Amino acid sequence: MSKKIVVLGGGYGGLLAALSVREHLSNDKAEVTLVNQTPTHQIITELHRLAAGNVTEQAVAMPLEKLTKGKEITLRVATVKSFSVDNKEVVLSDGSYLTYDALVVALGSKTAYFGISGLEENSLVLKSAKEANKIKNHVEERIREYANTRQPEDATILIGGGGLTGVELVGELADELPTMAKKYGVNPTEIKLLLVEAGPKILAMLSDELIQRATESLEARGVQFLTGLPVTNVEGNVVNLKDGQQIKTNTFVWTGGVQGNPLVGESGLEVNRGRATVNQYLQSTSHEDVFVAGDSAVYFKLGDERPQPPTAQIAWQMGELIGHNLYAYLEGKDFEKFSLINSGTLASLGRKDAVATVGANGTQLKGTPASLMKEASNVRYLSHIKGLFSLAY
Ligand code: NAD
Repeated sequence: MSKKIVVLGGGYGGLLAALSVREHLSNDKAEVTLVNQTPTHQIITELHRLAAGNVTEQAVAMPLEKLTKGKEITLRVATVKSFSVDNKEVVLSDGSYLTYDALVVALGSKTAYFGISGLEENSLVLKSAKEANKIKNHVEERIREYANTRQPEDATILIGGGGLTGVELVGELADELPTMAKKYGVNPTEIKLLLVEAGPKILAMLSDELIQRATESLEARGVQFLTGLPVTNVEGNVVNLKDGQQIKTNTFVWTGGVQGNPLVGESGLEVNRGRATVNQYLQSTSHEDVFVAGDSAVYFKLGDERPQPPTAQIAWQMGELIGHNLYAYLEGKDFEKFSLINSGTLASLGRKDAVATVGANGTQLKGTPASLMKEASNVRYLSHIKGLFSLAY
C-alpha cells in the first residue's frame, strides 16, 4: 500500500524535500502532500526588492502549482494550526486533519521581538510577500502624506536591526526613495532613512573591511546608522533607544531577529530553543518518522558549539537530502548524512552594490562582482526549481 508523506511548509526546505523525494519514490510507493499557507513559494532572500518597489510580486512569489506540476504532489493551501508527533496528526486551519507515515517539518521561523514593549504592535516586518507589499504601500502613503502635512515623522523611515535583512532592505530603499519622493513633489533630501543596530557593527558576520565598505556605500546614499543602540521600547510612533534618544517615525520596520516557529515547540518534538534537534540524517532526535528542514531545525556542524544560522542555502540543501532520506526511511535503505556546503554570504546594498564572502576560503567581493554573485545565486536557485519564469517580472 502507498505510504503517506506530509510536508509542512512550502519554503526552501519543504519544496525541495517534496520535489526531491519524487526522484526516489513514485506515487505508488508514497503519496506526497505539501501544505503551505499561501499558494506561492516565496523567495525570501529577494523580499527587500518587493518592499522597495523594485520588482513585482510575481518575481518573488511563484505558484507552487506550477513548480510542482507533473510531480504528483498534492497541494494543500492551508495554515497548519498544530501538529502532534505522538499522535501522528496534523490539524489544518480549515478544520481538517492529516495523518502520515513520514512527516517533514519545514515551517520556517517567526520574527523575534525579544519581549520589547510595544514593538510588535508598532512595527512592520519583512517575512512574506504580503508583508513586503505592506511596507511598499505604507512607505508610499507616508511620503504622499508628507507632501501635504510636512510632518517630519512621515518622512522618517527607521529600520530596526542591522543584520542581512535590515541592511538589504535599507540599501534597496536608499535607491528607490528619491524617485518616490520626486513623484510626490518632495525633495529627496527631506527623507530621513535610519537604521538602528544594538551591536557595535552592522553585518556582524562580515569582516571589518566589508562592513566599512557597506557603511560608506549606504551613507553616500543618505542612510544614517545608529549603532550600539538597542531599541528598548516603542510607544506608538516613538521608538526609544538605550541612550534615551527617541525617534519619532511613522514607518518602523523591525528586522531584529528570528526565532523558531512556535508550532514546532508545541508539537512534542525534542527542541533546542524552539527549533527541532536533528541527527546527521536530519531526522528528529525524538521521532524517527519526522525529518526537519530549514529554520525549523537546529543544526550543528560537527565540532561547532554554535548552530548554523538559519539561511536559505542551508534550507535548500536540507530539503534535498531529506528527499533521499524519506525514501531510505520508508524503503529500509541506507540514509545519507547531511554535509553542508557553505557557499558564503552575499549581502546586496541596493540595485548596483553588494558585499560578499564566497567559497571555502572566504574570498571577499565588493561592488559589481558581489552584485553579480548575488544575482547568479538567485538565478541558480530559480533554475534548480524550474522557476526561471519569475525573472520575466
Ligand atoms: P539577524 O538575527 O541576523 O540580525 C538581527 C540584527 O538585529 C542583529 O544585528 C542584532 O544585533 C540586531 N538587534 C537585535 N535586537 C535589537 C534591538 N533591540 N535593537 C536594535 N537592534 C537589534 O536577523 P536577519 O537579518 O533577519 O537574518 C535572519 C537569518 O536569515 C540570518 O541567519 C541571516 O543570515 C539570514 N539572511 C540571509 C540573507 C542573505 O544571505 N542575503 C538575507 C536575509 C537574511
